[in-house]
Order: sequence, then C-alpha cells, then structure tokens
Amino acid sequence: MSAFTQLRLVNHFAALEQAYSSRVEPMPLTEPKMAHFNQALAAEIGLPAGAGDDPEVLAVMAGNAQLPGGKTVSAVYAGHQFGVYVPQLGDGRAMLLAQTQNEAGDLFELQLKGSGMTPYSRFADGRAVLRSSIREYLCSEAMHGLGVPTTRALSLVSSSDPVRRERMETAAVVCRVAPSFVRFGSFEYFYYGERFERLQPLADHVINHYFPHLREATDKYERWLAEVVDRTAALMAQWQSVGFCHGVMNTDNFSILGLTLDYGPFGFLDGFDSSHVCNHTDEGGRYAYEEQPKIGYWNCSRLLQATLPLLDLNPEKAVEKANDILARYPDQYAEGVLTLWCKKLGLREVRAGDRELANAFLNVLDAGKDDFTRSFRALAQIQRDNSRIPVLRDEIKNVEAFDAWLENYRARLQSDSEEDGERAARMNTVNPKFVLRNHLLQTAIEKAEAGDFSEIAHLFEVMQKPFEEHPEYSDYAAPAPDWAAQLSVSCSS
Ligand code: AMP
Ligand code: MG
Repeated sequence: MSAFTQLRLVNHFAALEQAYSSRVEPMPLTEPKMAHFNQALAAEIGLPAGAGDDPEVLAVMAGNAQLPGGKTVSAVYAGHQFGVYVPQLGDGRAMLLAQTQNEAGDLFELQLKGSGMTPYSRFADGRAVLRSSIREYLCSEAMHGLGVPTTRALSLVSSSDPVRRERMETAAVVCRVAPSFVRFGSFEYFYYGERFERLQPLADHVINHYFPHLREATDKYERWLAEVVDRTAALMAQWQSVGFCHGVMNTDNFSILGLTLDYGPFGFLDGFDSSHVCNHTDEGGRYAYEEQPKIGYWNCSRLLQATLPLLDLNPEKAVEKANDILARYPDQYAEGVLTLWCKKLGLREVRAGDRELANAFLNVLDAGKDDFTRSFRALAQIQRDNSRIPVLRDEIKNVEAFDAWLENYRARLQSDSEEDGERAARMNTVNPKFVLRNHLLQTAIEKAEAGDFSEIAHLFEVMQKPFEEHPEYSDYAAPAPDWAAQLSVSCSS
C-alpha cells in the first residue's frame, strides 16, 4: 500500500483558477538518495512510520514519481527585489505537489524546491545545488526549534546530476512544507499588472483557510491585513532576538502567514555586529541586521499598496485605511522586541528602564563584537549578589563597560526578588545554547559533498532542541573559528 494513501488531500491552492499557477511536472533526478528525512514532521502530516525508508516516498520526494492524488503546480508572483519592482517572478524551481490536512485539521502544502524548470524559470535551470539545499533544510528546522515561525522541511534528496554554478556541483531537492506559500509578491503581481479582479479570490483563499475567524467579518480585508502586519512585525522581532539575518528580504520572499521563507544567503550572528550584512551580494547593506525591522515595515507598505483595491472602492479612503493599518507596525514591533529582550535578560515583566538596560547590553556586545548567542546564554549564570565574578566576563572585550552594565543589571534583578536558579531555568528556555552557525553548515556541506550525510543528521538532532544542553555536542556551541570569517554566502544557489 502506498504511504500516501493515508493522507487527506485538499489541494486548496491548486483548485484556484489558472490565473494563479501553472500545471507542471518535476524533472527526474538521477540516482536519488534520501540524505535526510524528517520523521517527526512526517508523523505530523500523517505519513506512516518508516516513510523515510520507503522507495516510493523517495521517488516522490525526488520528483521521479507523482504523488498519488496530487495536482502539481507552480505559482506565479512578482516582487520588489532590493527595492526594485520585478513584474514577473514565480516559482522558477518550486513545485507544489499537494496540500494535505491532518486529523487535527492542520494544513500542509508539500512543495519540491529544485525539481526542474517551470514556466517561471526565466533564464535559469530550475535546479538547486546540494549546498544550498542543505542550508535550507537544516535552517528551516533550526528556526522551528527556536520557536520562530517558518516554513519547514520534510526531506532532502541528493543526486548525481551535475549543475553549473560558479563551479560544477550536484542537484538536490528539498521538500518544503508550510500551510501556504502565498507571498506578498503574489498580490503585487495582480495589482501592478492591473488585474485587480484577481486580488479578491486570492485574498479570500488566504482568509478562508488561514484566517477563518475573519471569514464572516464585514471588514475582513482590513482585519486580515492588520493581522499580517502584526505577524510580520512579530517575526522581525523574533529574528532580531535570535540574531537571525535573512539575506534577501524581497517582497517575493515574505510570507502572507508571517513565516520565515526562502533560506538563501541567511546567517546567524556570531560576534554581535548590528551592521552585519550576511549576503555577500548585498553590497549596499540594504538587508543588514539592524535594517531588517525597517525593511519588514517597508515590505508591509508594499503589500498594502497592492491590496488597496480590496480596502475601499474610493481610492482616497483606501489609502487612508491602508495607512491606518501600516501605522500599527512601529508599536507592534517595538513592544514585541522589547518583550523578547526582557525575557532574554530573565526579567519577568517589562518596567521603565528595561529598554535602556537591554540596549546597553547590546552596546557592550557590539563594542567588542562579542559572541551574541554565547553571551545571552551565559547571562543565566549571573548571580544577583556580587560575590562572584560571572564567567561571561571572560568573553567580553569591553570589560569596563560590562562591569558598569553588570551593576545596573544586578540592581534590576534584586528588585525582582526571584531566586537565581529559577530565573536561570527560565532564561535557558529563551536563550538557545545552539544556533546554526555558518561554519557548522560548511562542515556538514563539505562532508555531504563527499557522500557522508552524518553531519547533517547530527546538526538536525541538536538544532531541533537548541535550548537543551547536549553535552556530547558542546563543540557546536563554541565561538566561530577564524576561518569562518572567510565564508561568504551569496544569492547563487
Ligand atoms: P530567490 O532569490 O531564491 O528567492 O529567487 C528569486 C526568483 O528567481 C524566484 O522566482 C525563483 O524561483 C527564481 N530562481 C532562483 N533560482 C532559480 C533557478 N535555479 N532556476 C529557476 N528559477 C530560479
Ligand atoms: Mg524566493
């Protein structure tokens, strides 16, 4: 019996009219191998135990066989790339195999990335290389482990098919999973193409399936867009709080559900540098770490522009409503990020002065480019009284500034009357010990390119539970080695 027969297929997106997508067929891979399979996610979706070893599952995840009952489509969208509008993009190498619904009612779109050319491939080959596929596969699951909303990954299939990038590499296919892959750019495509009548069916699709509480509301489009703005602001706050940088924050890479989407040249901060740019191709630093919250705002402004026809028939009123919705972002973001910084400092509530306390700590780290993840993790070991010098002090370069800050921090902790141990336990659930640093990925990629997938499995295991100690993997929590500074990630993938 097929592993897929137990799935309940709903295929909501593929059922929309042809204007939104094109029927496609994956291009087969030569000698596909299951480099990793996400058994926990498979179980959530409703695939049987052992699906990862099933040859039929491998064939479907490689694009070598049809998913029974699926309807394979690639979606059309547009987007602002580095601030410039591009009228047609679309899934140039992604194919939606099917959408399923599990017993709990959760929706899962299964999408292959790297499965060959589509009508939206433009001048490219529709493929993804093993290196970039490993990065996407592991990082989406690492973000999930950190509790950050994200698309996920079910399988990573490697092959012997050659793909030309700067050098010859091999093709791989990731099966990505999300409730929906609709992007801000999906709406921009129809707005700037002046096909306004196409906006409403797409918005209704999103609202009906993903914002069902708004279905009957008379002002449903306003309320839906307000929620999208809130989710986007919340996501930017979460990225900042874990030191995540998205290298290509174009509107076509912004999810309508507020998920982290499209892991290309991303990076976690090693040493804290607020002006860090993770994408080598981003010469102007448009998507630098400290710019990301502002870009989230700008992207929301692009979405609101593209959905003006849904807000009001009167263009002036529509603009007024859009501006009101957009105006939520600054406060939503500021409150969201402050709450997260306070949690990371172990504060149970936000009080006057806490914003300054958090900023001052970040300034200490920034001054010495001290390790972001390690420094926050080590905060939990600080005692309220000043009988012991904290171990963190050894890692901080600007010790004078740190000592001054520490005095204020201890005073703040003393005002809270909580035991050190209790606070530490709480902090260890918000300050991860592990993040998927570039050099860790690099090691896994080099081994995988030589045919050894074991490092992928180790990283996967740890990054699923990054708040736990995993003493056997303590090397993964070490600061980046010097050679990591030479690593460069770019849009080429
Ligand atoms: P990205 O920067 O990965 O978000 O991609 C931007 C656009 O380029 C999207 O429409 C992608 O589908 C398309 N694209 C990127 N790489 C390829 C490729 N190798 N083949 C076809 N289309 C691609
Ligand atoms: Mg993209």
